[in-house]
Amino acid sequence: MAIERIVIVGGGTAGWMTAAALSRMKAGHRKLEIVLVESEQIGTVGVGEATIPPFVDFNRLLEIDEAEMLAAVQGTFKVGIQFENWGRIGQSYLHPFGTYGYEIDGVSFHHVWHRLKQAGDPRPIQAFNLETMAAHFGKFLRTPDYESDHLPPMNYAYHIDATRYARFLRSYAEARGVVRREGRVADVALDGESGHVASITMDDGEVMPGDFFVDCSGFRGLLIEQALKTGYEDWSHYLPCNRAVALPCEREDGSPPALFTRATAHSAGWQWRVPLQHRNGNGHVYCSEFMGDDEAHAILVANLAGKPGADPNFLRFVTGRRKKFWNRNVVALGLAAGFMEPLESTSIHLVNTGINKLVSILSLDGVTQEQEDAFNRLTAKEYLRIRDFLVLHYSATARDDSPFWNHVRTMDVPDTLKEKIALFRSNGQIFREDDELFIETSWASVMMGQGIQPNGHNVMADALPLDQLRGEIDGIERSIRYLVEHMPSHADYLSKYCKAE
Ligand code: FAD
Repeated sequence: MAIERIVIVGGGTAGWMTAAALSRMKAGHRKLEIVLVESEQIGTVGVGEATIPPFVDFNRLLEIDEAEMLAAVQGTFKVGIQFENWGRIGQSYLHPFGTYGYEIDGVSFHHVWHRLKQAGDPRPIQAFNLETMAAHFGKFLRTPDYESDHLPPMNYAYHIDATRYARFLRSYAEARGVVRREGRVADVALDGESGHVASITMDDGEVMPGDFFVDCSGFRGLLIEQALKTGYEDWSHYLPCNRAVALPCEREDGSPPALFTRATAHSAGWQWRVPLQHRNGNGHVYCSEFMGDDEAHAILVANLAGKPGADPNFLRFVTGRRKKFWNRNVVALGLAAGFMEPLESTSIHLVNTGINKLVSILSLDGVTQEQEDAFNRLTAKEYLRIRDFLVLHYSATARDDSPFWNHVRTMDVPDTLKEKIALFRSNGQIFREDDELFIETSWASVMMGQGIQPNGHNVMADALPLDQLRGEIDGIERSIRYLVEHMPSHADYLSKYCKAE
């Protein structure tokens, strides 16, 4: 059946990102109707504030003016995530965007660095990453603002107020013909023959038919789960945290916003700090088996950089994913599709890649089994690789100071992760599989940051003379220092480029 009417259920970050992206289809298909249904009474989760670099491309593809958007969402720039107390209490490392150095004669930089380290070079690998050094000195300059033929461009993402971002995209989508309908969905009707969703019924009785539905209704999964009974793959045995309490605060010390999200491990979970222009977003993710709500709240309040700016928002979740992300004529995106912890800011990213796949695969001639299968297969691989990366943060720890850390340190981990760790330990090898999101630098930074050190390096790193290698890495270090020295401070840059009104 041809698709003439798409209904998006839910107006959180996922719903409005989808609406904004699909609205561009209307330019070539004027008769296509796109309707978004949301309920102000139900509201949104609205704590998704930290993003990763592909999100910059998402906004670019929509031809959104970056400075205007950042001003509207109180945004700041982000070049990585700082992990505190994960491998051990008192230990800290940055997982940077971008790469350590660059490939030398086809060999990844960290192998070359390891060889030089063995030969007595004392410099930490972080000295060869532009984003780490920029974060360290609080300096920032967007990529198009400078040119360097020696180094890859600065990789960055944003910290955003997700509620404001959804509002921003709503204006964008409505201006391009998306129709918003306020109200609560009370019922979902299935077609008796195909089992497809035929229509939704609003609480005022209005029946809204659709040919294709995008379920962005959040954890409840109104269409994908409640109507279609798709089923959920529970990953609590690998990612046991199942609660969060969120609490924004003013940045009272007047300090400039950091260029990174901070993830500080506590005794039964961890706390995020996301610096926006006007405030910090904070939250404590924890495991209810090991900590109660009151204690989690008290730990969060005790570790804020200012007075709480709102009432605490308690959230419950089960980590995992839907057994199918695309089922019949419904695609689930955002929290309706699944949830892994916000440790590496991957949720909004998965909305983004879900939209990319949807617009590539969807044909307005109608849905087919092949489309459904391809979408599900590709998305499942993506979730799996991200899951392994998140599990690594918990399993690669020496912490034994609480029952929670004893549990995650000794839990069984997926075989795919076991293999990755074993290969890295033996000679620093990291294979990026299935076009996975996290690159070698990401894996290396977390493994080394949490105490997994390679015993050797790629034999090809021994092929070049040491002096030549030293010359190469000296050049990288010098270029990074020079660039960082000549960048403005992050705070100055924000106030000139995209200061919020
Ligand atoms: P929601 O925000 O829950 O929106 C659901 C929508 O559906 C709402 O508009 C609601 O009104 C509507 N709805 C529901 N039921 C009905 C109904 N019956 N009728 C009508 N409308 C209905 N992601 C990141 O990328 N970075 C982060 O730092 C990050 N931090 C997070 C921290 C926590 C603790 C949590 C839980 C999530 C975090 N996320 C993060 C994830 C991020 O918040 C979500 O992925 C993102 O906001 C998308 O949410 P959503 O739109 O799917 O769902």
